[in-house]
Amino acid sequence: MMLNQSDPTRPANPGTPNRPSGRRRPDLTLPLPQRDPSLAVPLPLPPPTSSSAGTTPPISSSSVSSTPALSDLDRVRRIGSGSGGTVWMVRHRPTNRIYALKVIYGNHEPSVRLQICREIEILRTADNPFVVRCHAMYDHAGEIQILLEFMDGGSLENRQIRDEPFLADVARQVLAGLAYLHRRKIVHRDIKPSNLLINSRREVKIADFGVGRILAQTMDPCNSSVGTIAYMSPERINTDLNQGAYDGYAGDIWSFGLSVLEFYLGRFPFGDNLGRQGDWASLMVAICYSNPPDAPPTASREFRSFIACCLQKEPARRQTAAQLLQHPFITKSSHSHGPPSSSGSASSAV
Ligand code: ATP
Ligand code: MG
Repeated sequence: MMLNQSDPTRPANPGTPNRPSGRRRPDLTLPLPQRDPSLAVPLPLPPPTSSSAGTTPPISSSSVSSTPALSDLDRVRRIGSGSGGTVWMVRHRPTNRIYALKVIYGNHEPSVRLQICREIEILRTADNPFVVRCHAMYDHAGEIQILLEFMDGGSLENRQIRDEPFLADVARQVLAGLAYLHRRKIVHRDIKPSNLLINSRREVKIADFGVGRILAQTMDPCNSSVGTIAYMSPERINTDLNQGAYDGYAGDIWSFGLSVLEFYLGRFPFGDNLGRQGDWASLMVAICYSNPPDAPPTASREFRSFIACCLQKEPARRQTAAQLLQHPFITKSSHSHGPPSSSGSASSAV
């Protein structure tokens, strides 16, 4: 995630090898002071549905008193890894609450770390039901760890969703999250199925905010460990298109549309033989020089139109998140829907 403005903290020399970090000024990296954990233990937390409005402060990520200390977190199991780090399921010992802890790989150059911390601070202020809550950030001897809301259904990667009303509900929630971020002038820049998480209440939330992107700036773009360009818009991959102007909001809409179409198809939408793990050059040629993919004739007219409103090659022709929320595909199916595929496997979910 980034603010839609230039990056003053972008490292001047991305090729500089990682250096062991020196001591950091705590006011730069941990603006919310960590509380003495012993203070948090004996006090029972008030029930979240407390009716005594005005007397009991809500439990929220912005409440310093609810910020867990890193030393109170026990790792339960490893959930998964991406290009930027490893995600753990953790339990907060004093409260028994479960969270996800994202541990960012490596010790980064101080300027990179500072930028990561700044962006996470922006994330920490994000307060929306369709955006994964960030509860805390730790700079543990130079290793950055982020405490996140735990989503027990995992990501939507490799899920196939053929049921259009349910797909509309998923799309509506992601759009609501995007509309919130875009209203706050925040561009996500890494919308893709693995960054869309679901829980057992069928709530879908946007995760992962730019950390991978910041790391990517410091790494060779042809290195597969940077992540995939598969969901990037044509004008972002090839800055010669669109005279080099890049509208990050429209870029998010492209990535969103491609992800939703992938849910419907059960495969990456570009080309029959081109997976999202395809090599960089083939992906680039397909995304920049072929026509945008569209929904098949088996899909409803509304869904086909919806996808076409997202996957316009010309960014100015893509609709905004707020406009797409008014699209008939979304507004026509705004009631209860079938369950998602439980298997997480595309083929078994048809
Ligand atoms: P990339 O690094 O290229 O973005 P990724 O999104 O798969 O790939 P991570 O963000 O490190 O990588 O996430 C790894 C996996 O951990 C995800 O696929 C997801 O299933 C899981 N995960 C991430 N955040 C959470 C969370 N808050 N709750 C539950 N599971 C999560
Ligand atoms: Mg991710």
